Amino acid sequence: MGQESQIAQKRGGAAGASLPTTTSRLSGRTSSIIPRGRQIQKTFNNLKITILCGFVTILVLRGTIGVGNLGGGGDAEAENQHLIEETNRILAEIRSDSDPTDPSEPEPEFNPNVTYSLGPKISDWDQQRKIWLQQNPQFPNFVNDKARILLVTGSPPNPCDNSIGDHYLLKSTKNKIDYCRIHGIEIIYNMAHLDKELAGYWAKLPLIRRLMLSHPEVEWIWWMDSDALFTDMVFQIPLPKYNNHNLVIHGYPDLMFEQKSWIALNTGSFLFRNCQWSLDLLDAWAPMGPKGPVRDEAGKILTANLKGRPAFEADDQSALIYLLLSQKQWMDKVFIENSYYLHGYWAGLVDRYEEMMEKYHPGLGDERWPFVTHFVGCKPCGSYGDYPVERCLKSMERAFNFADNQVLKLYGFRHRGLLSPKIKRIRNETATPLEFVDQFDIRRPVHRDTNPKGT
Ligand code: UDP
Ligand code: MN
Repeated sequence: MGQESQIAQKRGGAAGASLPTTTSRLSGRTSSIIPRGRQIQKTFNNLKITILCGFVTILVLRGTIGVGNLGGGGDAEAENQHLIEETNRILAEIRSDSDPTDPSEPEPEFNPNVTYSLGPKISDWDQQRKIWLQQNPQFPNFVNDKARILLVTGSPPNPCDNSIGDHYLLKSTKNKIDYCRIHGIEIIYNMAHLDKELAGYWAKLPLIRRLMLSHPEVEWIWWMDSDALFTDMVFQIPLPKYNNHNLVIHGYPDLMFEQKSWIALNTGSFLFRNCQWSLDLLDAWAPMGPKGPVRDEAGKILTANLKGRPAFEADDQSALIYLLLSQKQWMDKVFIENSYYLHGYWAGLVDRYEEMMEKYHPGLGDERWPFVTHFVGCKPCGSYGDYPVERCLKSMERAFNFADNQVLKLYGFRHRGLLSPKIKRIRNETATPLEFVDQFDIRRPVHRDTNPKGT
C-alpha cells in the first residue's frame, strides 16, 4: 500500500503542477526592479515559457495516460491503477524464489546424521595450487612483491524491501570500487546463492571456497559486507605482518577468550589466505549453517555458550567464535587485529567525522580515521534493523560522503557537507595539471602514513 501511494504521488506531481508555479514565482520576484520596457519584454517571454510549459505538459500527459484518455478522468485513473498493479506484480515476481521457467528440483530430505559439507573433500590444495602457479607464470600470486588480493562482497538475489536499500547497496559498491581502483585490488560482487542451504549471512562461505578454487592466482580473499564502507581511502592492509597467518579478522582477544562474547570477532570484513588450512576451516565452520532445523538448533547451542547472544538461529559470526573457542588449534594461524579498524562499529564513529577532519588525516585507519565503518544491525536492504531506519540512513550518507570527499579531492572537489550529495570546487583549474598531479595522488608515499602513533 505504501509503495502504491508513493508511485501514484510521483506520477501525479511532476508534470502538471510544478512547472507553471515555478515560472510565476520567478516573474513575481523580479518585476519590481526592472524598467517598464524590459518588463513588457519579460512578460512576453514569460508568456512564451508558459505556452511552452503547457505544450510539454500535454506531451507528458499523452505519454503517460495515452491521447485517447485525455478527456475521461475515470479511464486515466483505471490506466494508472493498472500500471501500479503491473509494477507490483513484477516486483512480487522478482522478490519470490519461484521461477515458472525453472523446473524445480525436489527439496533434499533432511537427514540429521549426515554432516553438511561445502563440497567434495579437498586435502592437497596447497600442492595442486603450487603446481598450477608454476605452470601458469602469467598469473602470479605476487605482483611486484605484493600479494594478489580479491575483494569479495555481495547482496541477496532479490531487490531490497525498500528502494532506498538498493540505493545504499549501489553507494556501498561505488565506495568499494573506488578503494579497489586506487589500490589495484580486484573486486567481485556476488548476488547468487551458490548453495541454497547457506542463504543469508552464511552465503559468504560457499562463495569464498568457490573463489579460492577458481582463482588459484589470488593469494588473499577479502570478504567485506555490503553494509561496510571504506572510510579511509589511503590506508592499506599491512599484509607482510600476516606472513605466518591464514585468517585476519578484527576482534579483541580478551572479549574472545576471557568473556566468550558473541561480538569478540566481526565477520563483516576479514581476509582468508588461499590455502588448504582455509578450506579446512571453512569445512569446520559451515555445518551450523544449513537453514531450517540445523540452523535453529545450532542457534540454541551458540546462545547457551556465548556471552550476550540473544536467542536466534545460528549466524556465521557466532559460529566462527564458537568454533575457535572449542577447537583452539586453529588459533595458531588466526590473526586477531585491532590496531586499526578492519571493521569499525559505526555507532561510535559517524558522529566524529568532523572532529577527525579537523584534527587528523586519512591513512591512519584507527579511531582517528577509521579504515572501515560497518553498519552492523542497520539492515538497510531488509525491513527489520536494530536501529531507527532514519538514523541508519543518515549515518550511512555521512560515511559515504566522508569517504567520497577523499576521492573527489583528487579531482579538485568536495561535498558541500557530509549530508549533501552536492559538491563544490576546492581548487582552480590549471593549464598545467601535471605540475600538481603528485601532490593529489593518494597513492604517493607522502600520503602513506600508517604510523600507528601518527608522529
Ligand atoms: N549477504 C549476501 N547474500 C545474502 C544475504 C547477505 O551476500 O543473501 C551478505 C551481505 O553482504 C551482508 C552480509 O551478508 O552485508 C551480512 O549480513 P548483514 O550485513 O545484514 O549482517 P550484520 O552485519 O548486520 O550482522
Ligand atoms: Mn554487515
